[in-house]
Amino acid sequence: MNYSIKPNTLKNKIILITGSGDGIGRQAALTFAEQGATIILLGRTVAKLEAVYDQIVENGWPQPAIVPLDLQGATEKNYIDMASTIEAQFGVLDGLLLNAGVLGTLRPFGQIPEQEWQQVMQINVHSQFLLVKALLPVLAKADHASVLFTSSGLGKKGRSYWGAYSVSKFATEGMMQVLADEYANSTIRFNSINPGPTHTKLRTRAYPAEDSKTLCTPADIMPAYLYLMADDSIGTNGEYIEAQE
Ligand code: NAP
Repeated sequence: MNYSIKPNTLKNKIILITGSGDGIGRQAALTFAEQGATIILLGRTVAKLEAVYDQIVENGWPQPAIVPLDLQGATEKNYIDMASTIEAQFGVLDGLLLNAGVLGTLRPFGQIPEQEWQQVMQINVHSQFLLVKALLPVLAKADHASVLFTSSGLGKKGRSYWGAYSVSKFATEGMMQVLADEYANSTIRFNSINPGPTHTKLRTRAYPAEDSKTLCTPADIMPAYLYLMADDSIGTNGEYIEAQE
């Protein structure tokens, strides 16, 4: 996406990013912070979150916050407590990037272990339901809030061996569309983004033999992420956006 970014385009915005210790989420945290946002870094590996935190502070961007949370094991109460802490500390939430996700293992459908299916659904779908549900009241306190789900081409068309991952991305699209319709006359907008093939650990796990130099980097796809978090996208609701189009 071609989006000409004005400096400080996210100034004074409070944005929570799941899975912000690595890959696309890490890059989004750095890019949004550079544009003036205060980032709430959520993830399961504290050392990775701390490294992103340090990089933001060293650059003189707004001081972020860290929320260590494993989306696999977190309970509804954990999300409600987190939402209360965010409300007490920041008052509002202007942006929520639901980015964390796992691949599972590519294999024939008939061989997917139940436990793996549940793990992918828990992290990629169920945790997003609990997060959004808990955060809706604090998102409603912002003048305009953007909730961005992370989709995939596999959330639009199923493909052999991508079993639970593909089904989880269809569910993500469905969740986004239900919310976008339900909140159409509100100040909260809901969209999904398909990063497209991007050089990260997840991509390397899926395509170990691929030459990563042929892929976009997380930094390359940030214009679309910035657009969807910035006020320029107010009025865009219920859309599926391809970052590499
Ligand atoms: P990645 O490099 O593997 O990063 C995934 C992030 O999610 C990591 O920060 C990881 O934390 C976090 N995460 C995983 N399980 C978690 C859990 N249980 N609790 C909390 N955090 C957890 O993958 P990526 O490529 O950046 O993927 C980001 C999103 O883009 C995913 O939703 C993916 O499906 C989607 N996507 C990626 C591509 C691509 O080509 N890369 C294409 C289409 C869609 P740890 O580092 O601590 O494990």
